[in-house]
Formats: sequence, structure tokens, C-alpha cells
Amino acid sequence: MPAPKDPIKYKLYIERLKLSHTGKKFSDGTKEKMSLTRKGKIPKNLAWLTSPELNKKRSEKMRRENWDGGYSAVHAWVIKKKGKASKCEDCSKETGKIEWSNKDHKYQRILGDYNARCVSCHRKYDLSQGLIKNNYHL
Ligand SMILES: [Zn+2]
Repeated sequence: MPAPKDPIKYKLYIERLKLSHTGKKFSDGTKEKMSLTRKGKIPKNLAWLTSPELNKKRSEKMRRENWDGGYSAVHAWVIKKKGKASKCEDCSKETGKIEWSNKDHKYQRILGDYNARCVSCHRKYDLSQGLIKNNYHL
């Protein structure tokens, strides 16, 4: 119903509108349903994990810890010593991206600490070792 143009009718219309709103009370059941609907939404932390804001924080953290420099340097060192990773040690895959996986993520210059793994096995390994706890893969 569109708002009437006549000022008096309009006032009445507003009053009625107010009354209809204040007079409406949600039953407990409705309230419960409403809160359940809200609970069904994406958890805040999940939204946070995928938020651009967090990605920014991540890269800031990496910069702070001089991660780029340290990791890149060691990574280059491993490739220089062992060559490019070409075959996954876990599933023998030779196609796709094969990475050097570091056994404890301390990235020490110990050749034995590095194993060639495909992206999928690398991630599985890191997760199994508790080296990563989310999608953030260094
Ligand atoms: Zn693999």
C-alpha cells in the first residue's frame, strides 16, 4: 500500500504502521527459528580465513618475518643442490607441479630434510605433520 499524499491520511497511515509493528511480537518458536537461521550462516572465522583483509595480514606477517628472503634463498639453494623436484616420493607422480617439501618447516640447509612431493602430497604431508593448520601453505 503506497503512502497517501493527503497529510491527514498520511498521519493516520503512519500511526497504523507504527501500531502494526509494535503490536507484532515474535513467538518463541519464531525467535528460535530466526537464531537458527543466523547460526546456519557461514561462521565468522571461515569468512575471516578467506577475507582479503587476512590475506593482506598474511603477506604483512611474511614480510615482517623476512620470510620471502629466507624461504626464497633456501628454496633456490635446494634446487641448486638437488635440482628441480620432478617426481613425487609419495605417489610417484611426475606430472604437474612437484615441490620440495621440508620435513619440519625449519628450512635448514640440510639436503636430507627435503623431499620431492606433488602439491597434493605435499599438503597432506604438511597437514599430517601439523606443519600447517589451514590453507595457508608456505
Ligand atoms: Zn604425490
